[in-house]
Amino acid sequence: MSVVDFVIIGSGIAGASAAAALAPRGHVAILERESAHGYHTTGRSAALFSPLYGPAPFRALSVASRAFLSAPPDGFAPHPILTPRGVLNIATEAQRPIIESLAAAAQRLGVAHRLLDQAACLAACPALRADHVVAALEEPEAMDIDVEGLHQGYLRAARQTGADIRLDAEVTSLVREANAWRVTLKTGETLMARVVINAAGAWGDVVAGLAGVAPLGLTPLKRTAFIIEAPEGVDAGAWPSVIDADEAFYFKPEAGRLLVSPADEVPSPPHDAWPEDLAIAECVERMQAAADIPVRRILRSWAGLRTFAPDRHPVIGYDRAAPGFFWLVGQGGYGVQSSDASGRTAAALALGEDLPQDVRALGLSAGEIAPARF
Ligand SMILES: Cc1cc2nc3c(=O)[nH]c(=O)nc-3n(C[C@H](O)[C@H](O)[C@H](O)COP(=O)(O)OP(=O)(O)OC[C@H]3O[C@@H](n4cnc5c(N)ncnc54)[C@H](O)[C@@H]3O)c2cc1C
Repeated sequence: MSVVDFVIIGSGIAGASAAAALAPRGHVAILERESAHGYHTTGRSAALFSPLYGPAPFRALSVASRAFLSAPPDGFAPHPILTPRGVLNIATEAQRPIIESLAAAAQRLGVAHRLLDQAACLAACPALRADHVVAALEEPEAMDIDVEGLHQGYLRAARQTGADIRLDAEVTSLVREANAWRVTLKTGETLMARVVINAAGAWGDVVAGLAGVAPLGLTPLKRTAFIIEAPEGVDAGAWPSVIDADEAFYFKPEAGRLLVSPADEVPSPPHDAWPEDLAIAECVERMQAAADIPVRRILRSWAGLRTFAPDRHPVIGYDRAAPGFFWLVGQGGYGVQSSDASGRTAAALALGEDLPQDVRALGLSAGEIAPARF
């Protein structure tokens, strides 16, 4: 039987980034139920790095992740993780206060930003309609993320420092014995671990249930995305990502085409999520009110579960009642862009240390992300 310091349940971006940070400090095993890493939410993201996107703790974790994502160590990934994109948070007259408050948040966080007038909006994305968009908050340093490269980089780094990474390894039972957890897989195999790290995404509360730990009330919210052709004769590849100030939709260039999302949030049980035609049709209508983008056909569509804690903040820390049970869940719609700092934070707290200094300097405290707050 294997005996390890940390068993991480789930090899999505949360589990992978924590494993990369923990593996140099202890013996780590990552257990993933599926036959491929990133099969669930991590493999279904829109791949955007926009630190202004999301509640304050995610903004801090994303800002703190920027240095690593911009310049990962040699050999981490074959290609740059971040490439320039930019974001326009577009507003109608009624939505102006939203972009003004985003500008204030950007100022506080030291995130580069500019308020654009209508002419500048149309120059940045000529498809926008002058009868709809009056202004935008531009985040010029927002980036596209190579999610696959980043995810594989974390897993490679963890493996190179001794982590044992297993696919087809669904955890079906967690029993506390003396000072360790007996972790049993569907295959019947058993491991002993000092600490269990629950990075099971939408299944976070289900995994807690296996251990007899009280659920946090995590809510998986389904989000849809789809691909369409870019308008004919237009070089849409240079457009920024365009996000409606109320998040009624967003679109961004994606390999010569456009990725579009209704930015929907449909409460769902944990499952292999699929897209709904109605959500796509309604999104096309909302997008076309703001931008002149013909939609002849949907080339591909998918959906994924963005999982939120009740206060929509991340949950990183030991359970208050179950010794050795550590939560790393509630990454919502920001788990990729915040992954470096979130993984380092999880590693520090799992080792009984304080938050990383750069994360603390951005105003985040362990209490704000601790499961004990519920
Ligand atoms: C449409 C969409 C767009 C998004 N866009 C962005 C974006 O632009 N930028 C951004 O930063 N984020 C974005 N996100 C959010 C981001 O994808 C998530 O925050 C992140 O992927 C969550 O990672 P995770 O590791 O927590 O979950 P997951 O990737 O779902 O990983 C959890 C893993 O746990 C495994 N598991 C569960 N139970 C068990 C068990 N019993 N035993 C073993 N394994 C188990 C599952 O199989 C799964 O692989 C988007 C999400 C969606 C759906």
